[in-house]
Amino acid sequence: MNKNLTCIECPKSCELIVDIENCRVVKVSGNQCKAGESYCLAEIENPMRVLTSAVLGEGLALKMIPVRTDRPLPKAKLLEAMAEIKKIRINKPVKPGDVIVNNFLGLGVDLIATRECL
Ligand code: SF4
Repeated sequence: MNKNLTCIECPKSCELIVDIENCRVVKVSGNQCKAGESYCLAEIENPMRVLTSAVLGEGLALKMIPVRTDRPLPKAKLLEAMAEIKKIRINKPVKPGDVIVNNFLGLGVDLIATRECL
């Protein structure tokens, strides 16, 4: 099976054709450098995403406080992560970068606030 991807590793935005067999990358074409191959391998075999969302504030100026993970987490974990985020309540002031949940879901990433809320 072939899949088309646009490499986002640099502004050249190479259009890549990825040959995939059994969920594994067997060939990449269209890339102008090795970074394109690495991008395809990660995107097809272990896609990662930074999660951005919001958690409920209680007794604070904002009802919803924006948050994100400080690093990417496996894309396959996003639904589980969103379900966990829905359970979180913040009842004390936060500023950007404050850790809301350390080692979120045991994935080695922190969930941090992205906006001040008093
Ligand atoms: S394949 Fe290389 S040159 Fe092309 S967009 Fe990716 S990083 Fe840039």
